[in-house]
Amino acid sequence: MSVKYSDMIHLETSNVSCYMRVINGKPEIIVNFTDIETRRRFTIAHELGHVFLHWSWLPDKYLSEGLVEVSYRNGKYTEEELKREREADKFAAEFLAPKKEVERSLKKYMEEGILDKEIQMKLLAEEYKVSNPMAYRLWYENRFGD
Ligand SMILES: [Zn+2]
Repeated sequence: MSVKYSDMIHLETSNVSCYMRVINGKPEIIVNFTDIETRRRFTIAHELGHVFLHWSWLPDKYLSEGLVEVSYRNGKYTEEELKREREADKFAAEFLAPKKEVERSLKKYMEEGILDKEIQMKLLAEEYKVSNPMAYRLWYENRFGD
């Protein structure tokens, strides 16, 4: 598996955050490098979710060439695609910021006397290199479940 970066100018639309193809039987993820780092990290993790969950790929499995999965920045999806998108998002969230780790981090902040919710969210964003909205979500999921 490999990850490559592109400005996507070779595509008809610049609205693509990522696409995937199969080269020599292995998945290749091409990420839009004009996206900010937290976004790129989430995108890669999301695509890994598709590779494992929806392509059932394992390192020794050979895939047929050219298989493409495109992630649009403002994609319109069918019900079925939306379900896959949510599954890939869930995979990405757990991959980047495992629930147990987040729980441990929040406990640590509390022990250090960092009680302010906003500061805790900011620290989560820094520690896990995720966007502020995602840190916000992680905080709430930890506190109230999902
Ligand atoms: Zn997707």
